[in-house]
Amino acid sequence: MGVRDCVWCLFSGLTYSLCYNFVLMGKHFMRVYRDIDFDDVKKHTLEYGALSGMCSNCKDLNLKIDMLICPKCSTPFKYISFQNVKEHLPKMHRIMQERSMVQFIDHQDYKRIEGEVKARSIFG
Ligand SMILES: [Zn+2]
Repeated sequence: MGVRDCVWCLFSGLTYSLCYNFVLMGKHFMRVYRDIDFDDVKKHTLEYGALSGMCSNCKDLNLKIDMLICPKCSTPFKYISFQNVKEHLPKMHRIMQERSMVQFIDHQDYKRIEGEVKARSIFG
């Protein structure tokens, strides 16, 4: 597979040397479903947007992706949830290598369950 075949390079306009996908060719992410304690997720997630993140516990903003704990409330980030996963796939490979304990959770799942929990507390 050559450089020109790398879909990520074509999409992002990256040059060969900057392309994580090329370096990590053959690595793939696939979503898995499992039972998870949402209270734990709610306390320990770094919600990451296009450029910066937010602590799910104290809502502190402008957090960097490499932060292991929240600078404001000191909660350790056990989960990372990207608003747009496709933008961050190369980063995810790097994070996985550096921090084997971190888990990626789907942002839509996160928001859906958050809504369900909120609704249950109002109507339940
Ligand atoms: Zn915090």
